[in-house]
Amino acid sequence: MCRHAAWLGAPRTLVTLLGEPRGLLGQSYAPRLQRGGRVNADGFGAGWYVPGRRAPLRYRRSVPIWADANLPGIASVARSACLLAAVRSATPGMPVEESATAPFTDGRRLLSHNGRVAFKAVEPLLDGRVPESACDSAWLAAAVFARLAAGAPLGDAVADVVVRAGTDDPGARLNLLVADGRGLAATAWNETLFLHLGEWGEDHDPSPAEGHGGTPFAGEPPDDEESWTRNHHANPAEGHGDTPFAGEPPDDGAGWNGDGDMSSGERGEGARGTLVASEPLDDRPGWDAVPDRHLVLATPAGVRLRPL
Ligand code: GLN
Repeated sequence: MCRHAAWLGAPRTLVTLLGEPRGLLGQSYAPRLQRGGRVNADGFGAGWYVPGRRAPLRYRRSVPIWADANLPGIASVARSACLLAAVRSATPGMPVEESATAPFTDGRRLLSHNGRVAFKAVEPLLDGRVPESACDSAWLAAAVFARLAAGAPLGDAVADVVVRAGTDDPGARLNLLVADGRGLAATAWNETLFLHLGEWGEDHDPSPAEGHGGTPFAGEPPDDEESWTRNHHANPAEGHGDTPFAGEPPDDGAGWNGDGDMSSGERGEGARGTLVASEPLDDRPGWDAVPDRHLVLATPAGVRLRPL
């Protein structure tokens, strides 16, 4: 089982997702909630968005993440309002090669998959697209990208592929994580998924109607997605067109730097934004399990949860 994670919010470096001890680097050799596989050593990848460039930058390799001596330096300067990363444990029978490694990209989009699915369940969804690799995740990526290219909204494209493939293959595990630079969509479908909504900004007005003690997923599964909307990191001052929050000056960001310090101070106090991950990236309070068969949709306007 792979592990993946994404961030949407004030600009942060990739250390936010990778930093030890609990980030994806640590999860590559010591995952805590992984159901299958003990290490994620069949490759890794990351994607991030930078101002002035429509497509994300993507860095992926088919070696274990801990074997890439260049990564700490790259991670310490790869700063963005929208980050996505993954470490891979290849499903038996799947190729171990760079083109089978997430994140997959198409235009503005980045996609990662944690799980497995029968090819025959995805084939009808490809709509003429040729997957990049003979890996089930690449097939799912092609199916989602086909829908997005046809104009489907991010959440709808992801939900359609997961529900149809998951219905056709009841044994499928379909945790997808998709970014487009402005938002994130993530599914929980037979694998764990966690959400951290970050620090509340001063603009947050805890309304009694929310009534979840600051833990939006602690209560009943929502039946009305709007009632679960949080505007915790919406801030007009941070909007800069295509790249949300891109204008904010960088902070110094203690953390995984080029000198090999791989602590994860980047996720520390005051981080304003949303983290989505297969399992918590640190031991801070505030991580909530997303109920199975749900879609998480995060944008600068808030986070919504939708049953699938
Ligand atoms: N099936 C995918 C692969 O082989 C994802 C595997 C996983 O989640 N471990 O890469």
